[in-house]
Amino acid sequence: MPHQKVRVIGAGLAGSEAAWQLAQKGITVDLIEMRPDTMTPAHTTGDCAELVCSNSLRSDDVQTSAVGLLHEELRRMGSLIMIAADACSVPAGGALAVNRHDFSKMITQKLKSHPLIRYEVRHMGLPTDDVPTIVATGPLTSGPMADDIQTLTGDESLHFFDAIAPIVYTDSINMEKAWYQSRYDKGDKYDYLNLALTKEQYEQFVRDLLAGEKVAFKEWEKETPYFEGCLPIEVMAERGMDTLAFGPMKPVGLTSPHLTERPKAVVQLRKENKEGNLMNMVGFQTKLTYGEQTRIFRTIPGLEDAIFARLGGIHRNTFVCGPKVLDERLCLKKRPSVRLAGQVSGCEGYVESTAMGLLAGLLTAFPEMPLPPATTALGAMLRHVTQGNIDTYQPMNINFGLFPEPETEGPRKIKGADRKKLYTTRALRDLEEWKKQINL
Ligand SMILES: Cc1cc2nc3c(=O)[nH]c(=O)nc-3n(C[C@H](O)[C@H](O)[C@H](O)COP(=O)(O)OP(=O)(O)OC[C@H]3O[C@@H](n4cnc5c(N)ncnc54)[C@H](O)[C@@H]3O)c2cc1C
Repeated sequence: MPHQKVRVIGAGLAGSEAAWQLAQKGITVDLIEMRPDTMTPAHTTGDCAELVCSNSLRSDDVQTSAVGLLHEELRRMGSLIMIAADACSVPAGGALAVNRHDFSKMITQKLKSHPLIRYEVRHMGLPTDDVPTIVATGPLTSGPMADDIQTLTGDESLHFFDAIAPIVYTDSINMEKAWYQSRYDKGDKYDYLNLALTKEQYEQFVRDLLAGEKVAFKEWEKETPYFEGCLPIEVMAERGMDTLAFGPMKPVGLTSPHLTERPKAVVQLRKENKEGNLMNMVGFQTKLTYGEQTRIFRTIPGLEDAIFARLGGIHRNTFVCGPKVLDERLCLKKRPSVRLAGQVSGCEGYVESTAMGLLAGLLTAFPEMPLPPATTALGAMLRHVTQGNIDTYQPMNINFGLFPEPETEGPRKIKGADRKKLYTTRALRDLEEWKKQINL
């Protein structure tokens, strides 16, 4: 028996989508948003689903882009955010960009005029009653709400900054220069890939880091103390030529089969997921611009042709360690009447936040429904948020590394665009099958 009334806190991308999905399924929704009475440091209006930065929802290529696939899946699920994005799109090549003003106005109008949605402007903390609630308060969740979540889930479970290290597709690493080994041969050797640098290569790398163009912190980001635990590599490099070689690039306990001399430094890449098709550059969080990261990291021997599933960054972001505090249906383990959705649940990006909002709405409407298959973009994102690696968890944009490998026939591995099409074709086929199962 579905719930008759649900509360959604936060009318951003995720909360707007969740409220819409619930109301469209015949459920009454209290949608509670604190703006414009209480503003976040980045929002400037009182409208729903305000885009705080870029007006782009990224690539709309459904065949060869993971986010384009997610667009299509959301469209097929009746997403309000996608209805508004398509209606308010502006020319942007292969990307889906929108007129941000029209986009938010349309979503606000649709939600406020829906007969089953009661819209209320007020701040709210974590509820303690039994009303099924979706908390979608975003990367700039208010202080009191963040305190409530932290008190419930524990100090270690809520983060206030992303310290994002780049992630590389394993099959783009040159294995003639890399080798598998864990430090001092402790644990499974296949957990780590290593790349060695000679003294000359290391010193040039440090000089490149220091000279590379960086992204500045926003005024309001400077106020939150975060640093010593997750210093950007370029800040460590500023402390002295050898700092990185004694820090995240220390060579001790590792033996390169490719170098005759002892390496001056080693970059360690740790398996990011069970499949091992994504590798995380350990300790490489950075404020270098994306262009500079690609250029400088490709000077590391073995990464000359690296393809990055995600580039590094550090910015203000409130999010939980989803795999630790959420069950597989996005409910807080310690308060199952509350689901988290959007960026606070541990995903990254406008479209991904929308996807988590859509799923939180559906799962609240139909608590017993089967979960989306892991082969779909919706399922892959949900699986990352609820079942990613607890020890290394960081929010991620959707990317093909989060999907199970496609079943290919024959010994030759299909590559490039053809391989991406294997993922997207399978995803849309499985999405249709799932839709039949859940009767949508
Ligand atoms: C500065 C910045 C720039 C970003 N730029 C991009 C970008 O260019 N592209 C991209 O894909 N992603 C970007 N992101 C990441 C992220 O995808 C977006 O922030 C996205 O809006 C997240 O959606 P959401 O629904 O989780 O949160 P939001 O869209 O932020 O919605 C959360 C809502 O909850 C409200 N709220 C917060 N606390 C409370 C409370 N206690 N009670 C009631 N209401 C509350 C807020 O006012 C807000 O309306 C950016 C994030 C930040 C912080």
